[in-house]
Amino acid sequence: MSNIQWTDITANPIHLVKADGKHGGHWCKKISPGCANCYSEAMNLSNYFKFASKRPYVGEVPENLIFSSVIMQKLVKLKKGERVFIFSMTDCFGGWISVEMLDLAFAYMVIASQHTFQILTKRLERMPEYFRSAKEPIRKTVEDLRHQLNLPQSEFIWPIPNV
Ligand code: SF4
Repeated sequence: MSNIQWTDITANPIHLVKADGKHGGHWCKKISPGCANCYSEAMNLSNYFKFASKRPYVGEVPENLIFSSVIMQKLVKLKKGERVFIFSMTDCFGGWISVEMLDLAFAYMVIASQHTFQILTKRLERMPEYFRSAKEPIRKTVEDLRHQLNLPQSEFIWPIPNV
């Protein structure tokens, strides 16, 4: 459950990982005056947030970013459709998020079609740039994931209707 009024749950499949493999918190990069009071950075610098990275949202991109298929597969398994605020702790169209990570994330969103995925971004240039050439890579990734997860293939609809 989320206490954000316009969503049901949050999910952050791209996050930092510690040397021991445990969740290492989150990171984003401030880009505009609207980032001055970033709630995500405040949580990450807090002593009370379970997944605090303690890294301010400035400077070099951390090297320990991963894509968690486990988080996305949990969403796939949920029976009830929810409003999912995905990437609530970062900006998925930040330059440090690779195209391959985005392809995987959106492919999982296609498969988890029972949910409505909600995305916020301040990177309004990269979003259309990514989607201009994303259709075929996402379609292929969906096909591969359905094989891996033993799910039946189904029609691929573009643009993705539940995002
Ligand atoms: S883009 Fe969003 S999450 Fe990233 S630093 Fe700015 S306000 Fe925070």
